Amino acid sequence: MAAGSAQGSEVMATGFLKRIEQGPILFDGGMGSLLIAQGLASGEAPEPWNVDRRDVVRSAHRAYYEAGADVVTTNTFGGTRLKLGAKGLSDRVVELNRAGADLAVLVRPEGKFVAGDIGPTGKVTGLPGEVSYEELKEIFAEQAGILAGAGVDLLAVETMYGLEEARAAVSAAGATGLPVTATMTFDRKPRGFFTLMGNQPEGCLAALEEAGASVVGANCTLGPEDMLDLLETIRPLTSLPILVQANAGQPELKAGETVYSVKAADFAGWVGRMLDAGAGLVGGCCGTTPEFIRQMALEIEARRDGRGGH
Ligand SMILES: [Zn+2]
Repeated sequence: MAAGSAQGSEVMATGFLKRIEQGPILFDGGMGSLLIAQGLASGEAPEPWNVDRRDVVRSAHRAYYEAGADVVTTNTFGGTRLKLGAKGLSDRVVELNRAGADLAVLVRPEGKFVAGDIGPTGKVTGLPGEVSYEELKEIFAEQAGILAGAGVDLLAVETMYGLEEARAAVSAAGATGLPVTATMTFDRKPRGFFTLMGNQPEGCLAALEEAGASVVGANCTLGPEDMLDLLETIRPLTSLPILVQANAGQPELKAGETVYSVKAADFAGWVGRMLDAGAGLVGGCCGTTPEFIRQMALEIEARRDGRGGH
């Protein structure tokens, strides 16, 4: 049994990495805003919806595949023991990650992929009372193992804002044998791009590659215009494929609701430039919906057709 599943994931791994070589890969967009639209309360953990509101989560995955996404991401962003523990859910780590992976795997069309989502724990290393690198690695290994065991094709370590934690997550995820995409979140400062913990892209990319990432890049925080600038900064720094998932601009509070400044058509208009600038994988983050992904898919398709004609 164990040998059989290890063999299975190796076949899948080859599938995803091979697919990268064949041209642009489209990831999905945001999940949080879709769940909020269905009644997820502010501050409520989304992961219990993998059990209590299966229909909603499954519909979101299906909508992204139908929109043209090659990869959908499981609703397990906050699925580490530490993050669930902060919501009083540490006894449900296995259940909620397993259920999250199952929902996406069950609607995965032939030839498409499921990324097991791994987000930050909310803790940082190196401060008194916080966790050590080794502890973080164990915590990520637990989540990664559950997702891999449930049949995801790759693991997506994302929205990391500290390099130590990102390294721990990538290293633990890679130990499953699955390919790992590693994206960190950078803010634009006058002196360049920085994570919340003060890491610059230059140091991050090399460290993530060394930790075993197959794909590196950035997600969240930045809108498409700034993300393109960041992409141009990091492209010369790595030979790995790059994944970028921008937010739909910046969030604004309008009549008590969070809305994003960039519309789907405008967002999709950036896709060509991101591919030209060397992104091999693109998708959306906060504020992006299946409509954004549908329009991005059309851009990618038009570009492919255009190329075929020359
Ligand atoms: Zn985001």
